[in-house]
Amino acid sequence: MSQDNCLFCGIIAGDIPSEKVYEDDAVYAFKDINPKAKVHVLIVPKRHYPNVAVLAREDASLLAHIVEVAQSVADDAFHGEYRLVFNTGKDAGQTVFHVHAHVLTGEVLDE
Ligand code: IMP
Repeated sequence: MSQDNCLFCGIIAGDIPSEKVYEDDAVYAFKDINPKAKVHVLIVPKRHYPNVAVLAREDASLLAHIVEVAQSVADDAFHGEYRLVFNTGKDAGQTVFHVHAHVLTGEVLDE
């Protein structure tokens, strides 16, 4: 279910262009427009949830699936090692209120 005026719902629908990395019935993964690592992929559920806490409460298996997809991205990009970030709330840096996993990989990351 998509939400009006949601950037990532627009990307999932194909109304806003993106560089797709992976897609299945439940999730869509695409390159971050402002990468913070050599490989910076965003993974979003196709159904709109505002943040990871709501996703975990309402569909824990979908959250687990996002982790599996992150692992697969990193398996392809960098021997299976990666940083997985869910900014949750404005004061924590969340700017798009459609839950998204940042997968940072492709190089050795600073601590
Ligand atoms: P947040 O700050 O955790 O909400 O992350 C939002 C992310 O979305 C940021 O890393 C942005 O660079 C990224 N972003 C914003 N607009 C686009 C876009 O149109 N395509 C791909 N990534 C985007």
